[in-house]
Amino acid sequence: MDSEDRCPCLSGETYGACCGRFHSGYASGAWPGTAQVLMRSRYSAFAAGAVDYLLATWHPSTRPVELVLDTDTVWRRLDILRTQGGGPFDERGMVEFAAHYRHDGESGVQRETSRFVREDGRWYYLDGEL
Ligand SMILES: [Zn+2]
Repeated sequence: MDSEDRCPCLSGETYGACCGRFHSGYASGAWPGTAQVLMRSRYSAFAAGAVDYLLATWHPSTRPVELVLDTDTVWRRLDILRTQGGGPFDERGMVEFAAHYRHDGESGVQRETSRFVREDGRWYYLDGEL
């Protein structure tokens, strides 16, 4: 994905100015400051194929050993439905979202409530309930 492309999270920013700066900069300290920003950047990582970022932002207690993305799934839109906690001074956060996709010509929606924890000043994805 080009940094001048529209960001997949549909923030209205370019990929490079939005989620892309985390995908390319997380190892040198560019980390989302809230659970919701992390959620958006992880959605964009699925769309952009940023597997290393998905693993890095996954809490070690629930992180899979490896992650293979289904390249037949095209992520088309993210709707954040509800956010609880997840701010810079919270320890935990919850984000409910609907992710719209196309797969084999069919449209679908993945609706999930994701839980996030903050450790050492960094938000991590913990788990999600479909
Ligand atoms: Zn974005």
